Amino acid sequence: RVVAKFGGTSVGSVERIRHSAGLVADAVRRGESLAVVVSAMVGETDRILGLAGVFGAGLGDAEADVALAAGEQVSSALMALALREAGFEARSFQGWQLPVVTDGPPGASRIAGMDVSALEAAMQAGVIPVLAGFQGITSQGEIRTLGRGGTDLSAAALAAALGARCDIYTDVDGVYTTDPRIEPAARRLDAISHDEMLELAAQGAKVLQTRSVEFAKSRGVPMRVLSSFLEAGESRGTDVVETQDIAERRIVSGVAYARDQARIALLGASNRSELAARTFAILADAEIGVDMIVQAHTRTPGRVNIEFSVAHRDLARAQAALEAGLSGADISSETGLAKVSIVGAGLRQRADIARSLFAVLGEQGISVRVLATSEIKISALIDNDAVERAVRALHTAYGLE
Ligand code: ADP
Ligand code: MG
Repeated sequence: RVVAKFGGTSVGSVERIRHSAGLVADAVRRGESLAVVVSAMVGETDRILGLAGVFGAGLGDAEADVALAAGEQVSSALMALALREAGFEARSFQGWQLPVVTDGPPGASRIAGMDVSALEAAMQAGVIPVLAGFQGITSQGEIRTLGRGGTDLSAAALAAALGARCDIYTDVDGVYTTDPRIEPAARRLDAISHDEMLELAAQGAKVLQTRSVEFAKSRGVPMRVLSSFLEAGESRGTDVVETQDIAERRIVSGVAYARDQARIALLGASNRSELAARTFAILADAEIGVDMIVQAHTRTPGRVNIEFSVAHRDLARAQAALEAGLSGADISSETGLAKVSIVGAGLRQRADIARSLFAVLGEQGISVRVLATSEIKISALIDNDAVERAVRALHTAYGLE
Protein backbone atom coordinates (compact mmCIF):
# COMPACT_ATOMS: atom_id res chain seq x y z
CA ARG A 1 0.00 0.00 0.00
CA VAL A 2 1.13 3.52 -0.78
CA VAL A 3 -0.07 6.96 0.28
CA ALA A 4 0.83 9.49 -2.41
CA LYS A 5 0.82 13.12 -1.28
CA PHE A 6 0.82 15.97 -3.77
CA GLY A 7 1.83 19.45 -2.60
CA GLY A 8 0.62 22.85 -3.75
CA THR A 9 2.69 23.15 -6.91
CA SER A 10 1.87 19.55 -7.86
CA VAL A 11 -1.84 20.47 -7.97
CA GLY A 12 -1.21 24.12 -8.86
CA SER A 13 -3.11 24.15 -12.16
CA VAL A 14 -5.37 21.97 -14.27
CA GLU A 15 -2.28 20.76 -16.17
CA ARG A 16 -0.39 19.91 -12.97
CA ILE A 17 -3.42 18.06 -11.56
CA ARG A 18 -3.70 16.04 -14.80
CA HIS A 19 -0.02 15.20 -14.66
CA SER A 20 -0.15 14.19 -10.98
CA ALA A 21 -3.27 12.10 -11.65
CA GLY A 22 -1.28 10.41 -14.42
CA LEU A 23 1.40 9.39 -11.91
CA VAL A 24 -1.28 7.91 -9.66
CA ALA A 25 -2.80 6.12 -12.65
CA ASP A 26 0.59 4.61 -13.57
CA ALA A 27 1.11 3.32 -10.04
CA VAL A 28 -2.36 1.77 -9.98
CA ARG A 29 -1.71 0.12 -13.36
CA ARG A 30 1.48 -1.34 -11.90
CA GLY A 31 -0.77 -3.00 -9.33
CA GLU A 32 -0.14 -0.73 -6.36
CA SER A 33 -2.94 0.03 -3.95
CA LEU A 34 -3.03 3.80 -3.57
CA ALA A 35 -4.58 6.48 -1.41
CA VAL A 36 -3.97 10.09 -2.45
CA VAL A 37 -3.61 13.15 -0.19
CA VAL A 38 -3.56 16.68 -1.61
CA SER A 39 -2.68 20.20 -0.51
CA ALA A 40 -4.53 23.29 -1.71
CA MET A 41 -3.51 24.66 -5.11
CA VAL A 42 -0.33 26.72 -4.74
CA GLY A 43 -1.02 30.24 -3.48
CA GLU A 44 -4.53 29.38 -2.34
CA THR A 45 -3.76 29.05 1.37
CA ASP A 46 -2.00 32.44 1.34
CA ARG A 47 -4.90 33.99 -0.54
CA ILE A 48 -7.43 32.75 2.01
CA LEU A 49 -5.15 33.73 4.91
CA GLY A 50 -4.99 37.24 3.43
CA LEU A 51 -8.78 37.45 3.26
CA ALA A 52 -9.31 36.12 6.79
CA GLY A 53 -6.58 38.38 8.16
CA VAL A 54 -8.42 41.50 6.95
CA PHE A 55 -10.98 41.14 9.71
CA GLY A 56 -10.29 42.09 13.29
CA ALA A 57 -10.73 38.62 14.75
CA GLY A 58 -8.67 37.32 11.85
CA LEU A 59 -6.02 34.68 12.06
CA GLY A 60 -6.04 32.09 14.79
CA ASP A 61 -9.83 32.32 14.82
CA ALA A 62 -11.77 29.10 14.27
CA GLU A 63 -13.57 30.69 11.31
CA ALA A 64 -10.24 31.25 9.56
CA ASP A 65 -9.77 27.47 9.67
CA VAL A 66 -13.17 26.94 8.06
CA ALA A 67 -12.13 29.25 5.24
CA LEU A 68 -8.68 27.66 4.90
CA ALA A 69 -10.05 24.11 4.71
CA ALA A 70 -11.87 25.10 1.52
CA GLY A 71 -8.55 25.12 -0.36
CA GLU A 72 -8.07 21.37 0.06
CA GLN A 73 -11.76 20.70 -0.57
CA VAL A 74 -11.36 22.16 -4.05
CA SER A 75 -8.10 20.38 -4.91
CA SER A 76 -9.27 16.99 -3.59
CA ALA A 77 -12.39 17.13 -5.74
CA LEU A 78 -10.43 18.28 -8.80
CA MET A 79 -7.93 15.44 -8.31
CA ALA A 80 -10.80 12.93 -8.08
CA LEU A 81 -12.27 14.38 -11.29
CA ALA A 82 -8.89 14.09 -13.03
CA LEU A 83 -8.60 10.44 -11.97
CA ARG A 84 -12.08 9.76 -13.32
CA GLU A 85 -11.16 11.45 -16.57
CA ALA A 86 -8.22 9.03 -16.73
CA GLY A 87 -10.65 6.12 -16.45
CA PHE A 88 -10.45 5.28 -12.74
CA GLU A 89 -13.00 5.23 -9.97
CA ALA A 90 -12.10 7.93 -7.46
CA ARG A 91 -13.73 9.99 -4.73
CA SER A 92 -12.68 12.80 -2.46
CA PHE A 93 -12.81 12.66 1.33
CA GLN A 94 -12.79 15.77 3.53
CA GLY A 95 -11.20 15.62 6.97
CA TRP A 96 -14.62 15.65 8.66
CA GLN A 97 -15.88 12.80 6.52
CA LEU A 98 -13.38 10.18 7.79
CA PRO A 99 -13.07 11.77 10.37
CA VAL A 100 -9.54 13.01 10.96
CA VAL A 101 -9.89 14.03 14.62
CA THR A 102 -7.79 16.96 15.80
CA ASP A 103 -6.99 18.73 19.02
CA GLY A 104 -5.02 21.88 19.74
CA PRO A 105 -5.59 25.48 18.66
CA PRO A 106 -7.11 26.71 15.38
CA GLY A 107 -4.44 27.11 12.72
CA ALA A 108 -2.00 24.77 14.49
CA SER A 109 -3.94 21.66 15.42
CA ARG A 110 -2.59 18.16 15.94
CA ILE A 111 -3.97 14.91 14.63
CA ALA A 112 -5.35 12.98 17.61
CA GLY A 113 -6.69 10.09 15.60
CA MET A 114 -8.13 9.05 12.30
CA ASP A 115 -10.87 6.61 11.30
CA VAL A 116 -9.87 5.13 7.97
CA SER A 117 -12.67 2.59 7.62
CA ALA A 118 -14.59 4.49 4.91
CA LEU A 119 -11.38 5.13 3.03
CA GLU A 120 -10.31 1.48 3.26
CA ALA A 121 -13.73 0.37 2.09
CA ALA A 122 -13.31 2.61 -0.94
CA MET A 123 -9.90 1.11 -1.70
CA GLN A 124 -11.27 -2.40 -1.39
CA ALA A 125 -14.03 -1.51 -3.84
CA GLY A 126 -11.43 -0.35 -6.36
CA VAL A 127 -12.06 3.35 -5.76
CA ILE A 128 -9.02 5.63 -5.38
CA PRO A 129 -9.62 7.80 -2.30
CA VAL A 130 -8.37 11.41 -2.39
CA LEU A 131 -8.08 12.87 1.08
CA ALA A 132 -8.09 16.62 1.59
CA GLY A 133 -4.89 17.25 3.58
CA PHE A 134 -4.17 19.91 6.21
CA GLN A 135 -7.59 19.62 7.82
CA GLY A 136 -9.57 17.73 10.40
CA ILE A 137 -12.39 18.15 12.87
CA THR A 138 -12.45 18.38 16.67
CA SER A 139 -14.48 15.96 18.78
CA GLN A 140 -16.89 18.91 19.15
CA GLY A 141 -17.40 19.04 15.39
CA GLU A 142 -15.35 22.12 14.56
CA ILE A 143 -13.21 22.26 11.42
CA ARG A 144 -9.50 22.76 12.11
CA THR A 145 -6.27 23.04 10.13
CA LEU A 146 -2.84 21.69 10.98
CA GLY A 147 -0.52 24.63 10.28
CA ARG A 148 2.03 25.18 7.51
CA GLY A 149 3.09 22.06 5.68
CA GLY A 150 0.30 20.20 7.47
CA THR A 151 -0.62 18.05 4.48
CA ASP A 152 2.69 16.20 4.95
CA LEU A 153 1.43 15.30 8.42
CA SER A 154 -1.97 14.22 7.06
CA ALA A 155 -0.15 11.93 4.64
CA ALA A 156 2.19 10.44 7.27
CA ALA A 157 -0.72 9.83 9.63
CA LEU A 158 -2.79 8.20 6.89
CA ALA A 159 0.17 6.01 5.91
CA ALA A 160 0.55 4.92 9.54
CA ALA A 161 -3.16 4.11 9.78
CA LEU A 162 -3.07 2.09 6.54
CA GLY A 163 0.28 0.45 7.20
CA ALA A 164 1.48 2.05 3.98
CA ARG A 165 4.60 3.74 2.66
CA CYS A 166 4.33 7.53 2.36
CA ASP A 167 5.38 9.04 -0.98
CA ILE A 168 5.67 12.83 -0.92
CA TYR A 169 5.45 14.26 -4.44
CA THR A 170 6.79 17.80 -4.72
CA ASP A 171 8.60 20.16 -7.08
CA VAL A 172 12.10 18.78 -6.38
CA ASP A 173 13.36 15.28 -7.07
CA GLY A 174 14.10 14.39 -3.47
CA VAL A 175 15.94 15.77 -0.47
CA TYR A 176 19.05 17.68 -1.49
CA THR A 177 22.21 18.58 0.41
CA THR A 178 20.70 22.05 0.65
CA ASP A 179 17.85 24.01 -0.93
CA PRO A 180 18.57 23.75 -4.68
CA ARG A 181 16.96 27.18 -5.13
CA ILE A 182 19.88 28.73 -3.25
CA GLU A 183 22.72 26.40 -4.24
CA PRO A 184 22.44 24.98 -7.77
CA ALA A 185 25.34 22.62 -6.97
CA ALA A 186 23.23 20.88 -4.30
CA ARG A 187 23.07 17.11 -4.72
CA ARG A 188 20.15 14.75 -4.30
CA LEU A 189 20.61 12.27 -1.46
CA ASP A 190 19.58 8.68 -2.21
CA ALA A 191 18.69 8.19 1.43
CA ILE A 192 18.62 10.16 4.65
CA SER A 193 17.91 9.03 8.21
CA HIS A 194 14.74 10.06 10.05
CA ASP A 195 16.92 11.85 12.62
CA GLU A 196 18.85 13.88 10.06
CA MET A 197 15.69 14.70 8.10
CA LEU A 198 13.96 15.73 11.30
CA GLU A 199 16.82 18.08 12.15
CA LEU A 200 17.00 19.52 8.61
CA ALA A 201 13.24 20.14 8.64
CA ALA A 202 13.33 21.65 12.13
CA GLN A 203 16.12 23.99 10.98
CA GLY A 204 14.08 25.23 8.03
CA ALA A 205 14.34 22.79 5.09
CA LYS A 206 10.69 22.92 4.14
CA VAL A 207 10.79 19.97 1.74
CA LEU A 208 9.19 17.93 4.55
CA GLN A 209 7.27 19.33 7.49
CA THR A 210 8.96 18.64 10.84
CA ARG A 211 5.99 17.03 12.57
CA SER A 212 5.37 14.69 9.65
CA VAL A 213 8.92 13.32 9.96
CA GLU A 214 8.53 13.02 13.73
CA PHE A 215 5.32 11.11 13.21
CA ALA A 216 6.80 8.86 10.54
CA LYS A 217 9.81 8.09 12.73
CA SER A 218 7.72 7.26 15.79
CA ARG A 219 5.39 5.01 13.80
CA GLY A 220 8.04 3.43 11.58
CA VAL A 221 6.49 4.80 8.39
CA PRO A 222 8.94 4.78 5.47
CA MET A 223 8.82 8.09 3.57
CA ARG A 224 10.01 8.84 0.07
CA VAL A 225 10.34 12.28 -1.51
CA LEU A 226 9.71 12.32 -5.28
CA SER A 227 9.19 14.82 -8.07
CA SER A 228 5.70 15.20 -9.53
CA PHE A 229 7.23 17.10 -12.45
CA LEU A 230 8.93 14.06 -13.96
CA GLU A 231 7.32 11.11 -15.69
CA ALA A 232 6.56 7.92 -13.78
CA GLY A 233 9.77 6.02 -13.12
CA GLU A 234 12.01 9.01 -13.94
CA SER A 235 12.07 10.38 -10.43
CA ARG A 236 14.71 8.72 -8.28
CA GLY A 237 13.86 10.56 -5.11
CA THR A 238 15.10 10.16 -1.57
CA ASP A 239 14.20 7.50 0.97
CA VAL A 240 13.82 8.64 4.57
CA VAL A 241 14.81 5.58 6.57
CA GLU A 242 16.33 4.38 9.81
CA THR A 243 20.00 5.28 10.29
CA GLN A 244 21.37 1.76 9.97
CA ASP A 245 19.80 1.41 6.53
CA ILE A 246 22.08 4.06 5.01
CA ALA A 247 25.14 2.85 3.19
CA GLU A 248 26.79 6.20 2.53
CA ARG A 249 28.78 7.48 5.52
CA ARG A 250 29.16 11.20 5.75
CA ILE A 251 29.89 13.75 8.43
CA VAL A 252 27.58 16.47 7.19
CA SER A 253 24.46 15.51 5.26
CA GLY A 254 22.96 18.89 4.60
CA VAL A 255 22.72 22.62 5.19
CA ALA A 256 19.43 24.22 6.21
CA TYR A 257 18.41 27.81 6.76
CA ALA A 258 15.51 29.71 8.26
CA ARG A 259 15.01 33.38 7.52
CA ASP A 260 13.24 35.91 9.71
CA GLN A 261 14.50 35.04 13.14
CA ALA A 262 14.73 37.40 16.09
CA ARG A 263 16.90 37.42 19.17
CA ILE A 264 15.56 38.25 22.61
CA ALA A 265 17.94 39.25 25.40
CA LEU A 266 16.84 39.27 29.04
CA LEU A 267 18.72 40.86 31.87
CA GLY A 268 17.30 39.71 35.14
CA ALA A 269 17.87 40.24 38.82
CA SER A 270 16.97 36.79 40.03
CA ASN A 271 19.36 33.90 40.04
CA ARG A 272 20.13 32.24 36.79
CA SER A 273 18.19 29.01 36.97
CA GLU A 274 15.15 30.79 38.37
CA LEU A 275 15.08 33.33 35.53
CA ALA A 276 15.60 30.61 32.93
CA ALA A 277 12.90 28.38 34.41
CA ARG A 278 10.37 31.22 34.52
CA THR A 279 11.25 32.50 31.06
CA PHE A 280 10.85 29.16 29.35
CA ALA A 281 7.70 28.29 31.29
CA ILE A 282 6.09 31.55 30.11
CA LEU A 283 7.08 30.89 26.51
CA ALA A 284 5.94 27.27 26.65
CA ASP A 285 2.53 28.37 27.98
CA ALA A 286 2.25 30.78 25.05
CA GLU A 287 3.22 27.88 22.70
CA ILE A 288 6.21 29.78 21.35
CA GLY A 289 9.10 27.70 20.07
CA VAL A 290 12.43 28.79 21.54
CA ASP A 291 15.74 28.02 20.00
CA MET A 292 19.45 28.71 20.48
CA ILE A 293 19.56 29.50 24.16
CA VAL A 294 22.60 31.17 25.70
CA GLN A 295 23.08 32.03 29.36
CA ALA A 296 25.85 34.18 30.69
CA HIS A 297 26.86 35.94 33.85
CA THR A 298 27.06 39.69 33.66
CA ARG A 299 29.66 41.94 35.24
CA THR A 300 27.10 43.08 37.78
CA PRO A 301 26.84 40.58 40.65
CA GLY A 302 23.42 39.01 40.93
CA ARG A 303 22.41 39.94 37.39
CA VAL A 304 22.13 37.26 34.75
CA ASN A 305 21.69 37.41 31.05
CA ILE A 306 19.73 34.96 28.89
CA GLU A 307 19.55 35.15 25.13
CA PHE A 308 17.57 33.04 22.72
CA SER A 309 16.05 33.18 19.28
CA VAL A 310 12.43 32.92 18.20
CA ALA A 311 10.78 33.12 14.78
CA HIS A 312 10.14 36.77 13.90
CA ARG A 313 6.41 36.12 13.58
CA ASP A 314 6.36 35.09 17.28
CA LEU A 315 8.42 38.04 18.53
CA ALA A 316 5.62 40.42 19.51
CA ARG A 317 3.73 37.67 21.32
CA ALA A 318 6.88 36.49 23.08
CA GLN A 319 7.75 39.99 24.27
CA ALA A 320 4.24 40.66 25.52
CA ALA A 321 4.14 37.37 27.42
CA LEU A 322 7.56 37.98 28.97
CA GLU A 323 6.74 41.56 29.95
CA ALA A 324 3.57 40.39 31.65
CA GLY A 325 5.23 37.44 33.36
CA LEU A 326 8.67 38.71 34.39
CA SER A 327 8.68 41.76 36.57
CA GLY A 328 11.92 43.67 36.82
CA ALA A 329 13.72 42.09 33.88
CA ASP A 330 15.14 44.18 31.03
CA ILE A 331 13.89 42.77 27.76
CA SER A 332 15.43 43.77 24.46
CA SER A 333 15.31 42.30 20.98
CA GLU A 334 17.04 42.32 17.62
CA THR A 335 15.39 41.48 14.30
CA GLY A 336 16.61 40.89 10.76
CA LEU A 337 18.36 37.65 11.63
CA ALA A 338 18.51 34.21 10.06
CA LYS A 339 19.69 30.82 11.14
CA VAL A 340 21.99 28.54 9.15
CA SER A 341 22.59 24.98 10.28
CA ILE A 342 24.70 22.04 9.27
CA VAL A 343 23.19 18.64 9.99
CA GLY A 344 24.79 15.23 9.99
CA ALA A 345 24.89 12.06 12.05
CA GLY A 346 28.69 12.18 11.77
CA LEU A 347 28.86 15.42 13.77
CA ARG A 348 28.64 13.32 16.94
CA GLN A 349 32.30 12.44 16.54
CA ARG A 350 33.57 15.88 15.57
CA ALA A 351 34.37 18.09 18.52
CA ASP A 352 36.17 20.63 16.31
CA ILE A 353 33.23 21.31 14.04
CA ALA A 354 32.00 24.41 15.86
CA ARG A 355 35.40 26.04 15.38
CA SER A 356 35.46 25.15 11.70
CA LEU A 357 31.96 26.56 11.21
CA PHE A 358 33.09 29.84 12.78
CA ALA A 359 36.09 29.85 10.47
CA VAL A 360 34.04 29.24 7.32
CA LEU A 361 31.58 32.01 8.15
CA GLY A 362 34.37 34.30 9.35
CA GLU A 363 36.15 34.01 6.01
CA GLN A 364 32.99 35.34 4.40
CA GLY A 365 32.90 38.25 6.82
CA ILE A 366 29.73 36.85 8.40
CA SER A 367 29.50 37.36 12.14
CA VAL A 368 27.81 34.80 14.35
CA ARG A 369 25.47 36.18 17.05
CA VAL A 370 24.57 32.96 18.77
CA LEU A 371 25.72 29.40 18.20
CA ALA A 372 23.77 26.33 19.22
CA THR A 373 24.64 22.67 18.94
CA SER A 374 22.81 19.40 19.36
CA GLU A 375 24.05 15.87 18.79
CA ILE A 376 23.70 16.07 15.04
CA LYS A 377 23.52 19.77 14.17
CA ILE A 378 25.19 23.13 14.65
CA SER A 379 23.24 26.32 14.06
CA ALA A 380 24.47 29.89 13.83
CA LEU A 381 22.37 33.02 14.10
CA ILE A 382 23.53 35.51 11.45
CA ASP A 383 22.25 38.53 9.50
CA ASN A 384 19.30 37.83 7.20
CA ASP A 385 21.24 39.46 4.33
CA ALA A 386 24.09 36.95 4.64
CA VAL A 387 22.01 33.81 4.53
CA GLU A 388 22.55 32.79 0.89
CA ARG A 389 26.30 33.39 1.10
CA ALA A 390 26.47 31.41 4.33
CA VAL A 391 24.56 28.46 2.88
CA ARG A 392 26.82 28.30 -0.20
CA ALA A 393 30.02 28.69 1.81
CA LEU A 394 29.07 25.91 4.23
CA HIS A 395 27.86 23.68 1.42
CA THR A 396 31.26 24.00 -0.29
CA ALA A 397 33.35 23.83 2.88
CA TYR A 398 31.81 20.54 4.02
CA GLY A 399 32.24 18.92 0.63
CA LEU A 400 28.57 18.56 -0.26
CA GLU A 401 28.79 19.42 -3.98
P1 ADP B 1 5.10 21.27 -1.47
O1 ADP B 1 4.24 22.41 -1.85
O2 ADP B 1 5.12 20.17 -2.47
O3 ADP B 1 4.83 20.77 -0.08
P2 ADP B 1 7.38 22.74 -0.49
O4 ADP B 1 7.55 24.08 -1.13
O5 ADP B 1 6.77 22.68 0.87
O6 ADP B 1 6.59 21.81 -1.51
O7 ADP B 1 8.79 22.00 -0.41
C1 ADP B 1 9.60 21.88 -1.56
C2 ADP B 1 10.67 22.95 -1.57
O8 ADP B 1 11.55 22.76 -0.46
C3 ADP B 1 11.59 22.93 -2.77
O9 ADP B 1 11.05 23.66 -3.83
C4 ADP B 1 12.87 23.55 -2.22
O10 ADP B 1 13.03 24.89 -2.63
C5 ADP B 1 12.70 23.51 -0.72
N1 ADP B 1 13.85 22.92 -0.02
C6 ADP B 1 14.48 23.45 1.06
N2 ADP B 1 15.48 22.69 1.45
C7 ADP B 1 15.51 21.61 0.64
C8 ADP B 1 16.34 20.45 0.55
N3 ADP B 1 17.34 20.24 1.40
N4 ADP B 1 16.08 19.55 -0.42
C9 ADP B 1 15.07 19.75 -1.29
N5 ADP B 1 14.26 20.84 -1.28
C10 ADP B 1 14.46 21.75 -0.32
MG1 MG C 1 5.42 21.41 1.85
